[in-house]
Amino acid sequence: MPESTLYINGAWVASSDGAVREIRSPHDNSVVATVSEATAADTRDAIKAARDSFDSGVYASWSMKDRCALVEKVADLIKRDAEILASLETRDTGKRMVETRYDMADIEATFRHFAALGLKLKDRKVDVGADNISSVITHEAVGVCALIGPWNYPLLQISWKVAPALVAGCSFIVKPSELSPSTAIHLMKLLEEAGLPQGVANLICGAGATAGAPLTEDPRVDLVSFTGGLVTGRRIMATAAQTVKKVALELGGKNPHIIFENSNIDAAIDNAVTGAFLHSGQVCSAGTRVLVEKSIHDRVVAEIVRRAKAIYVGGPEDPRTETGPLISKEHLGKVEAYMHDAEKDGATILVGGSRIDREDLNKGWYFPPTVIDNCLSKMKCVQDESFGPIMTIETFESVDEAIALGNDTIYGLSGALWCDDKKIADRVAAALRHGTIWVNDFGPYRPQAEWGGFKASGVGRELGEAGLDEYLEIKHIWTNNKPARSGWFADPS
Ligand code: NAD
Repeated sequence: MPESTLYINGAWVASSDGAVREIRSPHDNSVVATVSEATAADTRDAIKAARDSFDSGVYASWSMKDRCALVEKVADLIKRDAEILASLETRDTGKRMVETRYDMADIEATFRHFAALGLKLKDRKVDVGADNISSVITHEAVGVCALIGPWNYPLLQISWKVAPALVAGCSFIVKPSELSPSTAIHLMKLLEEAGLPQGVANLICGAGATAGAPLTEDPRVDLVSFTGGLVTGRRIMATAAQTVKKVALELGGKNPHIIFENSNIDAAIDNAVTGAFLHSGQVCSAGTRVLVEKSIHDRVVAEIVRRAKAIYVGGPEDPRTETGPLISKEHLGKVEAYMHDAEKDGATILVGGSRIDREDLNKGWYFPPTVIDNCLSKMKCVQDESFGPIMTIETFESVDEAIALGNDTIYGLSGALWCDDKKIADRVAAALRHGTIWVNDFGPYRPQAEWGGFKASGVGRELGEAGLDEYLEIKHIWTNNKPARSGWFADPS
């Protein structure tokens, strides 16, 4: 009997129609777990549980101090179970343990950040210029939240939502990706152990169109916080508009990585290789679009190719592995299709470009680090988020051109630039329309700093202080301590 993996109103239940889904390893397509596949009715049950628990005040009425203590406790439990969580995530995604262990440490830090932030939240008194008036701005939970996550950093992306929702006093339904639900299932067990009242946290596993969609349609849901692809994000925003839900969207990116001649070129190349090929490019902030100053193009590209060729692609158990598989056969097919587009558009594939043919990897979804030169901004391989290990290379000849190319994308999630001239670096950092800019660095983020996108990369921010604001309603309470008539209309008596 497969485990019952839907968590609704404090109970572990199977899908109402008994359906299950096999979770398969991207490394060798073996079945690693079997989970309940929710129906739309199951999702509606989870929404009801969340709504009832929120309206009852069973958790929302806790003091901020108590809620933050619970969130700290969850952080402790994540620390305790970090190894279990990391191995579950490695199993679902094919990522090496060294990487999933990093993620677990970041998740623990995220819970601790929001617990500390909640304690700083204060009401604000407004001076309205009259002694008899008390005008106070307060914060309260936004209500019932649908927290929908992607497969690439499954628990990390969900934790950016669950931690602030708990601090704010919300009730919620978590909907992890159908491809990698195992750590979200474990998280529910930790929330239960931490003492979260029944019905506050609920979990739905299953396909987006059936299990996920009701979360975005139902009037009992107040906020949808979604991390995933642009196409799904657009659909969710449109659906949520029907019931005027609040929407927070963390979508894709096509992130420029700009290398000026006057920079630490060795560090720039090393970071460009990391930025494009880490987790086989399945990173929203992957720096897959390299823009290099024309004068250093040949030198930079030769070194990038040398480095890309040397990256060891393999399974999570192989100690030589530096990067792993793509998440699914469908995704591999999508990534492969970009090779055809690139060649048709006249770009040059210098390394990689076709699926890896190696006996130990033939059952999985492996694609090698791929470098495509002679790219132009308008090409599909440059503009689309391939979400695979594909680095495209374009050149620029002036600061203005670097800025223009860096902004020539519908997305605006992140960007990096390498330049030793501080004036130029500051100018480029200010001009790039992306939510995070790294100067002479690539990739770091901290829970204390906001994360999110300009333009089609999303709406709102996670982490930082704004990441808590998403889960709070602001209320203005005006009290007149000397009640009096308004006197606006003449009184006929
Ligand atoms: P996806 O859009 O295919 O799926 C994301 C989630 O949405 C899944 O849980 C899926 O089941 C659900 N879903 C699908 N259709 C739905 C619907 N109609 N209603 C409700 N839920 C629905 O994305 P993915 O392939 O899982 O993730 C990859 C994408 O996520 C990439 O585009 C990546 O850039 C993006 N991402 C962004 C960030 C960020 O911080 N901006 C972080 C990680 C991933």
